[in-house]
Amino acid sequence: SPKLIIEDLHVSVEDKEILKGVNLEINGGEVHAIMGPNGTGKSTLAQAIMGHPKYEVTKGRVLLDGENVLEMEVNERALKGLFLAMQYPSEVSGVTNSDFLRSAINARRGEGNEISLMKFIRQLDEKMELLGIDESFAQRYLNEGFSGGEKKRNEILQMMMLEPRIAILDEIDSGLDIDSIKVVANGVNSMRSPNLGVLIITHYQRLLNYIKPDFVHVIMQGRIVRSGGPELALQLEERGYDWIKEELGIED
Ligand code: ADP
Ligand code: MG
Ligand code: MG
Repeated sequence: SPKLIIEDLHVSVEDKEILKGVNLEINGGEVHAIMGPNGTGKSTLAQAIMGHPKYEVTKGRVLLDGENVLEMEVNERALKGLFLAMQYPSEVSGVTNSDFLRSAINARRGEGNEISLMKFIRQLDEKMELLGIDESFAQRYLNEGFSGGEKKRNEILQMMMLEPRIAILDEIDSGLDIDSIKVVANGVNSMRSPNLGVLIITHYQRLLNYIKPDFVHVIMQGRIVRSGGPELALQLEERGYDWIKEELGIED
């Protein structure tokens, strides 16, 4: 069962310290939600774990099954089973969704263990159906001309095909209507198992009505300032973030 440990993580962007000591442990079978006001470092956490070059880790460790992922090349992190669904997925011209997925899966499976074409197509069909994705989609170029909702569904399709050990989903609900949110949530829920730990990053509680988290954490000014169960998310929905700021004596 996978285990991700984030230990005293400090991250700077353009010499400004954004994360100031984040600690978090995610185990297989668990869904954690990180919530917080805009600009408090939620995406910074995701980007630093995945190794985006703009996000400089100045202190701390991130251990996946005991190995420090911060010392790995970016593609190695993916091969070890880290998955990031991004807030702003990018377009790639000249590569079809199907090609992209197949090479990503094969990279993760390793040489000599490639997925057969038949099996790949069967899995792709099955998962596209579950996500309500049109058949023509597989032969379209990666994210090109996709609506916001289609990009999000595609991210979840990627996750389902790649079978990561730890998945980080950053604002996968942003810009989605309620039906799309349900579809995306269904996809994530269908993957819940002891072999997967999930970190959901979201500004709003809404998504958590459909993907029920085991743990909820609030991040403010670069630190986790509150942790609790699903009831914490409901409390935030009702009362906003200001009461936590007041309790902590934070001014903005
Ligand atoms: P959140 O996801 O919680 O809304 P972010 O992690 O995106 O917040 O941003 C936290 C802070 O870091 C903000 O002040 C933001 O302006 C800054 N920041 C994040 N990414 C970048 C970047 N690529 N370049 C410059 N500043 C950044
Ligand atoms: Mg933001
Ligand atoms: Mg963000």
